[in-house]
Amino acid sequence: MEIRLDHIVKTFDTTKAVNDVSLEIREGELFFLLGPSGCGKTTCLRIIAGFYQPDAGRLMFGDSLMNGVPPHKRNTGMVFQNYALWPHMTVSENIEYGLVLRKVDKGTREKRVAEALAMVQMPDYGDRPVNKLSGGQQQRIALARALVIEPSVLLLDEPLSNLDAQLRLEMRHEIKQIHSRSQTTAVYVTHDQSEALSLADRMAIMKDGEIVQVGTPREIYRCPANAFVASFVGETNFISGKIRSISNGSAEIETPIGILHSTSVYHDFAAGEDTICSIRPEAINSAEKIPPTAPNQHHARVIDATYLGRVEEFQLSISDDARIKAVFHNPGTNDKQMSDTLRFWIRPEDVTPLPAHNSHPRTG
Ligand code: ATP
Repeated sequence: MEIRLDHIVKTFDTTKAVNDVSLEIREGELFFLLGPSGCGKTTCLRIIAGFYQPDAGRLMFGDSLMNGVPPHKRNTGMVFQNYALWPHMTVSENIEYGLVLRKVDKGTREKRVAEALAMVQMPDYGDRPVNKLSGGQQQRIALARALVIEPSVLLLDEPLSNLDAQLRLEMRHEIKQIHSRSQTTAVYVTHDQSEALSLADRMAIMKDGEIVQVGTPREIYRCPANAFVASFVGETNFISGKIRSISNGSAEIETPIGILHSTSVYHDFAAGEDTICSIRPEAINSAEKIPPTAPNQHHARVIDATYLGRVEEFQLSISDDARIKAVFHNPGTNDKQMSDTLRFWIRPEDVTPLPAHNSHPRTG
């Protein structure tokens, strides 16, 4: 089922929780609403579920207007942060409950409960009391319970945030598998950017009740709309500068550390305009093996180094007031000492000039 939010507004007292949000969520998509606490993502989800009515704007499921339709008539399945399972019931009874409410006959109920248990890969757990399950198993049963009613739309509100770090990683994979088996249009709310990057087909980044950018994880990470998105989704370094020249998606930027060359210009800039260059820590490469003529070569002083085996993280000082973070992969055996000078380079495609003031990207 395709979902469309058309200029949706929701105000609580004086807080504009959702401020003129328009979005199209495609049929079968696993779509994320991602943003910091209080940005309005749960309110959006609750409007889609029907728990809140919007003050203005239209909510469409396919060709049907959903404004005013009560939650139980929307055919949505919901998975909550705290699972919201009934502790006095068995796994099967929990899953079956929505079908009983819908007056589905007993034979069909048994078949669909078995299918739902198979979908979450817990076929033998039907008779277990839910309070005898681990957190991850409970979350899988919550998913089975939401999916058994064959919802047109699956809504997930921070479904993994009660699990420990390791289980969260495992459940990400489970959710992706379960979603691809069910093919249900799903809207997933989180403030965890790595969860969104690893799972989303597409995502909307929200801030202060508004959508700042919509795109695939790769588009959002590689072509952020502005400095807020660049720093909220992943880590980044910002270096302020001024556009010296620009043509065909390439630019030269004057910065306090010298000229930076970029071939990743996704915004309309004019020569002379202020900009902020976003450079990811993993895009800063040790320059030991590159040709001396390569662009974007700079020197820095090591002010902190953390060896982590797979990677080594550095805090580098480029000038008195410019510090950057670098992550080198597959670090060698030589320790870098504090105050060592290190030569590094950045590929021009990894220098992304962003508007010094908020605006929207030309592409991405
Ligand atoms: P979190 O990640 O912390 O859950 P969120 O992005 O989901 O945050 P919302 O819960 O949608 O944000 O809240 C958006 C804004 O609306 C916040 O400022 C919040 O305090 C306010 N708000 C949400 N629900 C209500 C309510 N029922 N009454 C009053 N204010 C509310």
